[in-house]
Amino acid sequence: MNKRIYLDNAATTQVSGEVLNEMLPYFTSVYGNSNSIHSFGRNAANGVDEARDRVAKAIHATNKEIYFTSGGTEANNWAIKGIAYANQKKGKHIITTQIEHHSVLETCKDLEREGFEVSYLPVDETGLVSIPELLHEIRPDTILVSIMAVNNEVGTLQHLRAIGEIVNDYKAYFHTDAVQAIGVLDIDVKEMHIDLMSMSSHKLHGPKGAGALYVKKGTPIKKFIFGGEQEFNKRGGTTNVPAVVGFGKAMQIMARDREVINKKLEVLSDYFIKKVKYEIPDISINGNPRQKAPGIVNVSFKYVEGESILMKLDLNGIAVSTGSACASGSLEKSHVLKAMGLGAADVNGAIRFSFGVDITKGDIDFVVRTLTNAVNELREMSPLTKKSKKGEE
Ligand SMILES: *Cc1c(COP(=O)(O)O)cnc(C)c1O
Repeated sequence: MNKRIYLDNAATTQVSGEVLNEMLPYFTSVYGNSNSIHSFGRNAANGVDEARDRVAKAIHATNKEIYFTSGGTEANNWAIKGIAYANQKKGKHIITTQIEHHSVLETCKDLEREGFEVSYLPVDETGLVSIPELLHEIRPDTILVSIMAVNNEVGTLQHLRAIGEIVNDYKAYFHTDAVQAIGVLDIDVKEMHIDLMSMSSHKLHGPKGAGALYVKKGTPIKKFIFGGEQEFNKRGGTTNVPAVVGFGKAMQIMARDREVINKKLEVLSDYFIKKVKYEIPDISINGNPRQKAPGIVNVSFKYVEGESILMKLDLNGIAVSTGSACASGSLEKSHVLKAMGLGAADVNGAIRFSFGVDITKGDIDFVVRTLTNAVNELREMSPLTKKSKKGEE
C-alpha cells in the first residue's frame, strides 16, 4: 500500500499536536461544567475564557463579541435567522450570493418560506461577486447582506472591505461566512465593516464540533438556542469545553503561523498546477488566479466524470473531492461552478484539491502521475472524447 495522501483539507483537517495537547486536560482533570460555581466549574470556565480571548484577538474583536457555537453551520444559521427575526420591523429583504455554503443557502430558503425576500447575487466566471450588482440590489429595506469570504469549492476570495463599506453605507448588517478564510487571511472585523462572522474550528486543525459567531457589539440578534444562559444568554447548552479550548488554540496558532503556512501552500499549489497543465491536456483551473486561498485548487478535466477520477485516486490512497463534502453523496452538481457559468463538461469533470502543509513535492509528483494515468484511462473509455475528436477532424 502506498503512503496515503490527503488533499481534502477544505473538507476537514487533522487536529494538530499542539491543539490536542491543549485539549487533553479538559477531558480528564478539568472536567467541570464551565457554568458551575465551584472550583471544578471555575477551572473549566478559565479555559473557555482564554479560548474566547484568543479567538477575539485573532480577528481583532473583543471577547464579549465572540459567541461559541457547534461550528460553521450553526453560526451561519444563527447569524442569518438571528438578524432576520430581530430586524424584521425595519425590512424583510436579505442579499446573499449564488455560491454560498448550503448552510447559508438553505437558511435563506427557509426564510423565504417565512415571507422574507432574498436576492441571490450572481458571480463572474472566476467566482467574484459583482459590486455593481450588489449596489443594484441593495435598498432601504435590506436588513442583511451575507457574502462568504473564501469559497470552499474554488477558493475565490471576495473583496470584503469594498462590500463591507457599501453595506455599512446602507445601514444593513454585513455577515460573512469566513470558515475558509480565517486560516488564510488576517481579518480585521472593524476595518472591514463586518458585523457578523462565522468561524469553524475543524477547518484549521482544531477539533470538529466547535466554532463561533462574531457579533459586533450593539448588533440586535435574536437568541437561537433556548435553554440555559450560556454565551451571554444568547446560546443555551452546556459548553463543549475541550472543543472550544482546542478551537481557541487553533486560532492562536493560525494568527502566529499564517504567513509561513500561506507561503508553503502557495508554492505547493503552484507546483501542482504547473505540473498538471504540462501533463494533462483539455483541463481548466477554476477560480480566481489572484484573489484566492492558496491551498485550494479546483480543476476541470474535460470528457470525464469527476467521481470516476476521485475513485481511481482513492484506490491509490489519494483523497480529493468533487465540489463540497456536503454535496457529494448526492448526485447534485456543483451550484458554485454552475453559477460561475461553466459548461456541463467542466462542471462534471471538476475535482477540488485542497492542500495541507504536510504535503511534499514528491507527494505531488505521485499525485500527478496517478492523476494522469486515471484521466488517460477514463478518456480512452469515454464516448465524449471520441465524439469531440471526430468533431475536430
Ligand atoms: C465547512 C464549511 C462550513 C460548515 O462548517 P461546519 O463547522 O462544518 O458546520 C460553512 N461554510 C464554509 C465555507 C465551509 O467550508
